[in-house]
Amino acid sequence: MLSKLRRKVRSGDFSFFIHFFSVFTGIFLVMTVIILQVMRVGVYSSVDSNLQGAVANADAYVSMTMSRTLLDELEEAFADDSPSSENPSSEKNSSKSDFKLKPGTEMAANTSYIVYDSDGSILNNLNTFSGLQTLKLDSDKLGQVKEVAIENYSGHNEKYHLITVAVSSIDYPEAAYLTIAINTTQLGDANSRYIKIIVVVMVIFWIISVLASVYLAKWSRKPILENYEKQKAFVENASHELRTPLAVLQNRLESLFRKPESTILENSENIASSLDEVRSMRLLTTNLLNLARRDDGLTPEIQELAPAFFDDLFDNYSLIAEENQKDFTGINELTKAVKSDKPLLRQLLTILFDNAIKYTGQDGKIVLTVKQSPDKHLLIQIADNGPGISDDDKTKIFDRFYRVDKARTRQSGGFGLGLSLAKQIVDALKGTITVKDNPPQGTVFEVKL
Ligand code: ADP
Repeated sequence: MLSKLRRKVRSGDFSFFIHFFSVFTGIFLVMTVIILQVMRVGVYSSVDSNLQGAVANADAYVSMTMSRTLLDELEEAFADDSPSSENPSSEKNSSKSDFKLKPGTEMAANTSYIVYDSDGSILNNLNTFSGLQTLKLDSDKLGQVKEVAIENYSGHNEKYHLITVAVSSIDYPEAAYLTIAINTTQLGDANSRYIKIIVVVMVIFWIISVLASVYLAKWSRKPILENYEKQKAFVENASHELRTPLAVLQNRLESLFRKPESTILENSENIASSLDEVRSMRLLTTNLLNLARRDDGLTPEIQELAPAFFDDLFDNYSLIAEENQKDFTGINELTKAVKSDKPLLRQLLTILFDNAIKYTGQDGKIVLTVKQSPDKHLLIQIADNGPGISDDDKTKIFDRFYRVDKARTRQSGGFGLGLSLAKQIVDALKGTITVKDNPPQGTVFEVKL
């Protein structure tokens, strides 16, 4: 269990995961901090700008607050039924209730005003439940918004944003400072609720993104890894194929060295066999080079090919078939020119024809037909009466180095590259190549271009 974990930690997959993990953690952390900061500033900005706007009306607020206090005191006096009607402030109050606020600066219910005298004593009445009467005058940074926490009557901490300004009221000369305080407790509570929601959402999305990115990265790496494996297998196969002829060559040449006095004639078998191996190596390297070069993309040069192009090819194939004692029939049903890449098309047909010759026996019959399909495509069919190809092998024969009968085809000089070259050409010409049985016996290769 532990060693399994250790192996996983050391593996490339884990470092891969750590990379994604750190990148996404970084992105989400920065994003969360920015959102929270923007929220924090946004939530209090209207409160703070209200406070700053209210400063212009400071004198009016002093009048309003003081007159309310006097009114309250009067009401109290009446309620007590005491002879306080002669209170000089009642007159003062009635004449001073005509203060005017600039439009748009009326304050909400959660706003409190505290009027101080020059010694810092509070002059107005305050809601005793709020605990604001305990707020000391802070004449330090006048005109600046501050945040304070005040314990209310029931022992809870209430948050306030407040601003203090110096005032000089003609009506209330004893008033020296005004503090305007806005209760931000509810705003703060809502804000912390939103912060919690945002953090939870961010964490969920962060986990989803890490998992999704690891999955996507693996998914997108898959074709690259597959390609890499294919390339590796290709190089391994190629080296393996080259090893046998090289070993044969070395053997033959060494045996020539052991008999320095003998003549070429006496060694003709050794020399002929060496030459054979050199020839087959040349063919192999040419094919390998073609495959490797064309893997980067093969750009066909399309030109018009007259039907006679196929007749010429068929003539050559007839000669080769005759040499190999096979029966070849070429059927050219084309009536007008076709558009294709001449060398590529010739190579494609030759690979298929070569295979038909190679894999048919003594009474080999090969029929090559070129015609136009009903949907105006160029259709090439090569039918033979060879051993046929099993359904399982039909799916593999286009793979590089795949040979159905390894021992037999090695003798006939096949490396299992012919059909993969053919497939590469057909792909470049944007066509299809299929293989099917040719009843009662044999194979048909069909190319549609
Ligand atoms: P090779 O160079 O060995 O012929 P190919 O890629 O051309 O390689 O063919 C792959 C395999 O497909 C061959 O080993 C052979 O077994 C099989 N094959 C190809 N053409 C025919 C055919 N016409 N009839 C039977 N088998 C064939």
